[in-house]
Amino acid sequence: MNSAEIRQKFLDFFASKQHQIVPSAPIVVKDDPTLMFINSGMAPFKDYFLGNKPAPNKRIADTQKCLRVSGKHNDLEEVGYDTYHHTMFEMLGNWSFGDYFKKEALEWSWELLTEVYGLPKDRLYVSVFQGDESENLPMDQDAFNIWKSMIAEDRILMGSKKDNFWEMGDTGPCGPCSEIHVDLRTDEERAQVDGKSLVNNDHPQVVEIWNNVFMEFNRLADGSLVKLPAQHVDTGMGFERLCMAIQGKRSNYDTDVFQPLIQYVAKEAGVTYGENEKTDIAIRVISDHIRAIAFTIADGQLPSNNKAGYVIRRILRRAVRYGFTFLDFKKPFLYKLAAVLADQMAHVFPELKQQLGFVQRVIEEEENAFLRTLENGLKRLDALEESFKQNNNTIDGKTAFELYDTFGFPLDLTALIAREKGFTVDEAGFGVEMEQQKNRSRNASATEQTDWVILQPDVVNEFIGYDCDTSASHIVRYRQVKTKNKSEYHLVLDKTPFYAESGGQVGDTGYLISDSEQIEVLDTKKENDLILHITAKLPQHVEAGFRAEINAERRNMIRRNHSATHLLHAALRSALGEHVQQRGSLVNEKLLRFDFSHFAKIEEAELRQIEHMVNKRVRESIPLEESRNVPIEEAKKLGAMALFGEKYGDFVRVISFGQDHSVELCGGTHVLNTGNIGYFKIVSESSVAAGVRRIEAISGDAAEDYMQQQVNELNAVREVLNTQSNVSGAVEKLQDDYKALQKQLEQFELKQLGTLKDTLAQNAQQLNGINLVAEKVDVSSSDYLKKLAFDMRQVVDNLVLVLAAEIDGKPQIAVMLSDNLVSEKNMNASQMVRELAKEIQGGGGGQPFYATAGGKNSAGLAAVPGKAVELVKSLL
Ligand code: ATP
Ligand code: MG
Repeated sequence: MNSAEIRQKFLDFFASKQHQIVPSAPIVVKDDPTLMFINSGMAPFKDYFLGNKPAPNKRIADTQKCLRVSGKHNDLEEVGYDTYHHTMFEMLGNWSFGDYFKKEALEWSWELLTEVYGLPKDRLYVSVFQGDESENLPMDQDAFNIWKSMIAEDRILMGSKKDNFWEMGDTGPCGPCSEIHVDLRTDEERAQVDGKSLVNNDHPQVVEIWNNVFMEFNRLADGSLVKLPAQHVDTGMGFERLCMAIQGKRSNYDTDVFQPLIQYVAKEAGVTYGENEKTDIAIRVISDHIRAIAFTIADGQLPSNNKAGYVIRRILRRAVRYGFTFLDFKKPFLYKLAAVLADQMAHVFPELKQQLGFVQRVIEEEENAFLRTLENGLKRLDALEESFKQNNNTIDGKTAFELYDTFGFPLDLTALIAREKGFTVDEAGFGVEMEQQKNRSRNASATEQTDWVILQPDVVNEFIGYDCDTSASHIVRYRQVKTKNKSEYHLVLDKTPFYAESGGQVGDTGYLISDSEQIEVLDTKKENDLILHITAKLPQHVEAGFRAEINAERRNMIRRNHSATHLLHAALRSALGEHVQQRGSLVNEKLLRFDFSHFAKIEEAELRQIEHMVNKRVRESIPLEESRNVPIEEAKKLGAMALFGEKYGDFVRVISFGQDHSVELCGGTHVLNTGNIGYFKIVSESSVAAGVRRIEAISGDAAEDYMQQQVNELNAVREVLNTQSNVSGAVEKLQDDYKALQKQLEQFELKQLGTLKDTLAQNAQQLNGINLVAEKVDVSSSDYLKKLAFDMRQVVDNLVLVLAAEIDGKPQIAVMLSDNLVSEKNMNASQMVRELAKEIQGGGGGQPFYATAGGKNSAGLAAVPGKAVELVKSLL
């Protein structure tokens, strides 16, 4: 059975058990501050488990793209070394939201594995929660009894809280779970060692494939457990491990899920997979990581310097480094692999193939940048080689950490390079540095939050801010959140006009006003579907009725900028082409920022054209058309420009300004008529990443102010120039005049210098056959001083010249000697100038025949000529 058939059979099986089959949610998480990436099949359904909103169907099944590289689940360091943990993998799952429970879940999983897929029963083990005294939880007798009716009792293992009690996070839904493990060893191996003893023991051929979680409890912040009002089932089966089991392979990488990638990498590198452990690991790392990289970029997360973007950058760099070190890939190679993956996955996850060109461009640019960094790191290591030698042939922990932190060298790479050069690395020292950094970031981000205080349990918070700026509201729940230096409150209202930050639009600010108090709302944010009003104070009477009132003026500015963003998006597509896709946006009361895929700088004339197109739509006063609660599928049919793929169950809002012009899925707030935007002005265009451009623009009052400022400035210039027309012509004329004057001045100075030279030559003193000139002179630059000295040399023989001058407020001395004095009388201009420079508290030097000095004390210049005479006399 190939992997495509295996996936399909899973979905068909659960469809036959009345499950609704839904597509995978995007791997990038948008509205959950606790999660950057989907890390399990249940994550997109969190709101249903938390009771924040009802599930659209009581039974759902899917295959979900997951990523386990940060936070609670982080398998990154295993990947490549073992054969069954991936960064990105598919989790096959079936769910019951308050519907069926343990019996159906376990019986179906058994039926699917043994009857549909035909896995031999004597290779399967199951585990059951053994209970936990400290939590006061009994053993999961129900699960045990269900299993006993299907499988030999000695294949049912008891598991501890660590393996068999699943929790969503520090708080939230949790419950006992029951795992299914498969033993893929050969018959001989199995005869020698009992498989049972290898379950949950990191054996590469005895692995967990499926976990059935029974959510019964809710964990509170004080650590206690309370029973959930309804019981749910959440299951997750690793698709790649299932393929390994069904296809009888010993490694996930030997299945047809990975082989096309593995073979491609091996061919590029000119090696054979399976011959050398080191190159095998590198090939596995690359074949794994490209999946994580390509799919997250396709789902809208670009590599960057912080948060989720940094996670992706790190994975990409890990892949590049393994290729660089073990497969001798010195040029970008990952981007090519994205095409292999896109073809292979097009039938399940078409999003990658659809954006392949863009994804490849981003990857290649990142690879190039990192390869350059790697090279710089290697240079840095070379430069420090001497210091390592003096340090007992050891690379100290600080340097190893600097390489890690600044150049992206993980410790093992530094160690490898060290070994090649006969050095060792102070790993303990590295560990200390690492720990210190972790502590720093931990302290900075440590937060503490209380449990929700629920005032009205069953009320769903309703957003009414599309239609109203105020509402009569009640607080339905609140909590306190403390970080290192501040404390704030999160208040949830039964209904609210406050827009919570999302889709690039900032959150509203405003007030909650009751008869007795007025609480300022500092910001509004979303946590899943909860709208959190962030305040510094908790109202004294939390149960009072409040008038919730947003800062309407600010919101109007935001509305204008948001609608202007839509018009800009449409204008860009019509001016530049359909490849323009939104890659990010920010809309606040001051400006709008729009990032989009496009490959070249946009010329000034094009920008003006785009701006004009938007302003034309503004003047056409196109009314807003808004459709709420459109099922995602229907919205796509309307031709709406979707962002990075919504998730199943989402009802979306379609915003259009002219059906044939701008139609977008958008949850933001908008003007009722494009005329309200007033005026639109682009203020900058730049590049943010490979193939991504950024436009910043303003609208309404801000645009008017901006233009007025430009005009004011121009008027000020006009006034200064005393001209009403052709300002640039007047400025050009000024510049020309200036240049001409400068030239005249130069000629004048040169003439003066000539006169000065003649005077000096005439005033030369004769001293034992030497012509000594020592004078304080008046010149305007060092260049002139030098020119004067060299010109004197042309006209006076046996010359000892000492010039002192104050130039730009600083004292300078120049000494010039005729060549014969240097060779025959052993005189030295450098030595002389150093001696003379003492008068001006300075120093200098140069050649034997010509030297200069600068100093601090201009008052000392007057003494220089006299001292020069003394000095020359002493030398003769
Ligand atoms: P393990 O102990 O093997 O890391 P887990 O306990 O972390 O697994 P769950 O969180 O229960 O796994 O996830 C459900 C299923 O997803 C597992 O049974 C396994 O088949 C699969 N799975 C988990 N992590 C990975 C991964 N990093 N790569 C591939 N499949 C995975
Ligand atoms: Mg795990």
